[in-house]
Amino acid sequence: MLKLATRVGRANPSAIMLIADKAKQLKAAGRDIVNFSIGVPNFLPGEHVYEAVREALKHDSGAYGSNRGREDLLDAFLAHMREIGLDGYKRSNVAVGIGAKQVLYNLCEALLDEGDEIVFPTPYWTSYLDIAEILGAKITLLPCPPEQNYKMTPAQLEHALASKPRVFLFNNPSNPTGMVYSREEIAALADVLAKHPDTWIITDDIYNRMVFDGVGYHNFVQFRPELRERTAIVDSLSKTYGMPGWRVGFVAAPEMLANAVVTLNSNHITNIPEIVTAAAVAALTGPQEVTKEKCADFAGRRDDVLAALLSIPGVKCPRPQGAFYAFPDISVAFGKSHDGAIIDNDVDFCAALLESKGVACVPGSAFGEPRALRISYTCPRAQLDAGLQRFREFFAELAETRQVTAAHA
Ligand code: PMP
Repeated sequence: MLKLATRVGRANPSAIMLIADKAKQLKAAGRDIVNFSIGVPNFLPGEHVYEAVREALKHDSGAYGSNRGREDLLDAFLAHMREIGLDGYKRSNVAVGIGAKQVLYNLCEALLDEGDEIVFPTPYWTSYLDIAEILGAKITLLPCPPEQNYKMTPAQLEHALASKPRVFLFNNPSNPTGMVYSREEIAALADVLAKHPDTWIITDDIYNRMVFDGVGYHNFVQFRPELRERTAIVDSLSKTYGMPGWRVGFVAAPEMLANAVVTLNSNHITNIPEIVTAAAVAALTGPQEVTKEKCADFAGRRDDVLAALLSIPGVKCPRPQGAFYAFPDISVAFGKSHDGAIIDNDVDFCAALLESKGVACVPGSAFGEPRALRISYTCPRAQLDAGLQRFREFFAELAETRQVTAAHA
């Protein structure tokens, strides 16, 4: 019998894509669908990026490129790092990849042998779990429920690091919650990390230019410089430059780890394309207006989404301060029904919402928090308003299950 490797059996198809596909099918069938499910920024980069691509096409070499990334791109990324407050890195600390996802995969592959422990908080971005599963790592989750604003406490971290996990993985600003750790919170976590020198740290900071309310972006290494020698900082052009399909991700890490990523690149991908490199350099070095405008726009949308959610009795939603997601606790709906459909959990909820109101959201269990769901609020404005309205209607139409059962009896 032909067999696949066991590691493939441990990977799950993305739950986010499953919902998005279902939404697409309904749309193709003529339904009016509001899609809150995919985490795409929904804007295009500035004209200067396209201009740089046209220019690059004129003298395309067609050749293989550097496994680390072209030098002008490494320099552009280093300048971006300095702008966001991360000084002192050199080209030899950096590597480029096909999006943050491939960079994260490489990092985990470079750091985790089968059975090694990786620790990360829930809610988590779905691929963290799948990457760790594929690699056969031992996964320890740190539950950060809505009651603690989906944020990890220093005590939780301290406890988790006692077993000397190989890797601690951290995401700020967060997908799916939109939470952003304050300066003080990052400093306090950095103090804990400094006490546990056996653990590598990966910080996935790809939303670092999408922070609201003046909270600012902070990283552990700014408070405890000694953490640099075991911290990998991951970044990407996908979300903040409106370039998810261009597939450009970065890491800044100690040389040993950056070199390992380059070696894996040389075996997995060789290089990112020359034309994409030109676009990436232009995005990082050119005018930053689009990113700034979008950040302000998302902050305004966050206000509207939050106001709509908090107007629903029993729905709780810690205030997102970055990225473009809200992650409300909708468990007040569990045990109720909608139009005869019983809602026992987040998956039932999202299925009924999509079926009856044409609103697609991702169930929170995809991110390790089954009491919630994720709303990605970057769709066109009119759709956003309609979707929020339908979301409220859905709640208003919920019936106590017992009444429904009695009515049907
Ligand atoms: N990390 C987080 C937290 C994300 O939300 C995403 C994309 N959804 C990624 C990494 C992957 O980004 P990229 O498009 O750069 O692969």
